[in-house]
Parts: sequence; structure tokens; C-alpha cells
Amino acid sequence: MTDADTGADRRPQAVDFVITGTVVTADADRRVYTDGAVAVRDSGIVAVGPRAEVERAFEGDRRLGGHRDLVIPGLIDTHNHMAQALVRSLALEDLPNITRVYIPAEDVLGDDGIRTSARVTMANLLRAGVTTTTDTTCTAEHEEAVGETALETGIRCALAVGDRDRTSRLASNYEQIDGRSEYQDDPAITAGNIAHLEDFLTRWSERGRGLVRPYIHAASVPSISDELFVAAQDLAERHDTAVMTHINRDREEIELCVSLFGRRPLEHLSRIGVLGPRFLAIHAMLTTAREIRLMAEAGAKLAHAPVVCTDIVSAVTDVVGMRAAGVTVGLGCDTVINDILAVMRIAFFMQAQAAGIPLYDPIGFTTEDAFEMATIDGAKALIWDQEIGSLEVGKAADIAVIDGENPRLSPRHNPVGSIVRYAVGTDVRSVLVDGRLVVDDGRVLTIDEDSLLEEADEVAARVRNDLVPRRYWPLNQRFRIIDG
Ligand SMILES: [Zn+2]
Repeated sequence: MTDADTGADRRPQAVDFVITGTVVTADADRRVYTDGAVAVRDSGIVAVGPRAEVERAFEGDRRLGGHRDLVIPGLIDTHNHMAQALVRSLALEDLPNITRVYIPAEDVLGDDGIRTSARVTMANLLRAGVTTTTDTTCTAEHEEAVGETALETGIRCALAVGDRDRTSRLASNYEQIDGRSEYQDDPAITAGNIAHLEDFLTRWSERGRGLVRPYIHAASVPSISDELFVAAQDLAERHDTAVMTHINRDREEIELCVSLFGRRPLEHLSRIGVLGPRFLAIHAMLTTAREIRLMAEAGAKLAHAPVVCTDIVSAVTDVVGMRAAGVTVGLGCDTVINDILAVMRIAFFMQAQAAGIPLYDPIGFTTEDAFEMATIDGAKALIWDQEIGSLEVGKAADIAVIDGENPRLSPRHNPVGSIVRYAVGTDVRSVLVDGRLVVDDGRVLTIDEDSLLEEADEVAARVRNDLVPRRYWPLNQRFRIIDG
């Protein structure tokens, strides 16, 4: 109990919600109340603590939770693409899927298609307790549509936009006898991008009502000029936001960077002075100890999307090394599995396999580390931790309630470990974002889910017809899909 006057002679104050259960705060002291409660008034948290104290001081218009339930901070997804949800199962085992499946799919979605795709993604995320997502758009036409859809569904969204102003070409192994890697920047596009970003950042800091926050997506070193990276950092500083960049992701990118600049991608960005606390690296799977040191010294952050390590078969990010060096690491669903409870579990096992097992190091990466990455550290990665990421008085009421009335989560001796190891998205019963109930009894209140699925099937069929000829693999291998 931290703020209210709890004098016993006073009647309880009316609040909108009192939520009870095992409360995992993720506050600075990492307090967990086994019989706790959270009180919510309007958009904010007004009390967190032992249930008896909170209930003495506050009476909720509505009560949520229950004595076996788990009450956790709304989960934070630091990397995703709203435009990719409808084709993600087409990309399985078909490499290179980013350029062959995802980007062409985004190009043919159109305005209605992107809204449908964003609604599907957001419904998926909200149902799994995600209250903040991040969209890194690749197509300028999607910016407004994604922002508006976030406001409509009620999910909090870090909306990162930005266009490419560099074309580059990697002379592949077979061409290297006389071919050379090259890049070309287009100053006219750079200037247009900077003007657009300035306008976007100004407009959405107003329009987003604190729920949709504007960020910059400087896609990657092969597609963004040095000049634009430098300008983006300056804009981020002036607009109190951050720059997100897909980096050190695959061998081709590293080869290109080394052949053009004689430096690896993160070393290149360090050299041009754009690594800093407002830089969020995405993925960084192929990152050397030198580069981790550069990130840590600069205060740069990481969005780690573990499932994508499998999806593009590149490498497992050295999250253990990054955290040990002091790099803040958030977790990302990145389309492929939009259930962050599953993503936490995957991150835990993947890091244990990659770093813990070879060194017999059971404490190198723990379930608590995974939980922090999906809550408070995710908020820090997005520079949003003054408002979200933990259950504390004065913070926004972004809260997920997990149903503990089931044999999977009960009995439990270790609440955080049980969530990371055993909880699944469908265990989430209620979700509040900014004090607004957006998921009740496992259903999203802000979306007509039945008609959404019909719409999604139609758009997905259209996009699939455009994409199937590009695939190397047939859609069915041994498992034969029979239409009927
Ligand atoms: Zn991405």
C-alpha cells in the first residue's frame, strides 16, 4: 500500500476497479503479493499492496481477479509488424521469407487489408495480455491506418515509421570474381523523409492521445543513408522518442556492410555517432562482443524476437551477454507468434539451450529475466517506463489478469516461474489498457471478432494468390491439404 490514507474510520473510496489475486508488480523491489490487490481510478493505478489494506481503502465499481488468479503488468511487445499477420504461415520454412513473402504481401494489402491485418494482430495480442505493441511499418500508406486501428482497438502502440533512401546491392559469392557490392543514396528522398518524419512526430504526439506514440523506423543499414540515420537521431532527441533499426540480422547484411565500409553494421552506426540511449536495435543476432560493448557504452537497447531466430535460421541473439554488459533488452513477438507468454517461454528455453546448457549455467538466464523483458525492461526499451511496465501507484492502469483456476497454473510455489513456464494466451481473462477494460472473460470488447475472422479470410486468400508463385516450397509437403 503506497499512497492512500487508509485510516480505519474512513469509508472506502470509490474506484473503477479493484483487482485481486497474486500481484506481480515488477516494481523496483520486484514485490509479489500472494494475496494482493490493485485499485484503478480513471486511467491510473491508485493503490497496489496486500488485499486487506487495499480493500479497506477502496471499493471498486467492478471487481476482477480472484484468489487463485495472477495480476501482472500489461505485457509489452517491443517489435512487431501489423501488416504481416495474414501471411505468416506462408513464410514457414521458405527462405528468404522477408523479401520473398512479407514485403511483397505488405505491398498488396491496400488500406482495408492493412486495417484487417492490424485488427487480427491486435486482437491476438490483447487476448494474450499484451497492452503495448510496436509497429515498424515498411509502407508509408499503412502509417495512418495502423495508428487509427490501435486507437480503435484500445491497445497502446509504439508506431515507428520511415522510408528507405538507399538502394544497395551485395555482390554474392558467385559474382565476386569481378562484381562489387555497392550502394546509392538519394538525397531528394532523404530530405522528403526528414520533412515527413518531423510532420509525423508532431502530428501523432497529439493524435495518439498518449496511447499511440510516434517513433522512427530507420529500417536497416543497407536501406538507410548515413545522413538519414544522423537526422533521425536528432529528431528522436527533439521529439523525445527513439529510432528502431533491424540490424546484425543476417549474413548478407554483415557481408554488405563489411564490403562497403570495412565495418560491421553496429560498428558502422557507432562510427557515424548514432548509437545512443534513443537507439533500439532490432534482433542483433550476429553481434560480436565488440559490438555488444559499443551498444552498452552508448546505452543503446535491444528488441529481442526469439522466434524469428528460428524463422530465418540466422543465429540466437546473445541476450545473456547483452544483459550482462548492461544492455536493456525487451521482448518482441514479431508477428510469428503473437502470444507473448509463449514468446517468454521460448526465450527462456532458447537462452538456456544457447548459453546455459553448454556452460552448465542454470542462473545465466532465468524465468525472471524473461518476465522482466516482457514488462519493465520492454518499457525501458521503448523509453516509456515512466508510465508503463510495472504495477505502481501513479502509473497507467495497463494490467492483465491470468486465470489461475486451472490445473496448469495451480498449485504454484513460484508465481513468475509458473507464468513463464506454463501460462498460455488463453489463460488471460481480463485486460485493462489505460484503465479501459478491453478484454473481458477472454473476449476482446473493442473488436467484433466473428466478422473480423470472415474479413481476414477474404483478405488472406487474396494476398495468398499473389504470393504463392513466389514460394520455393509447395504449400503442402507430406501433409496433404484437401479442400473439403
Ligand atoms: Zn521486424
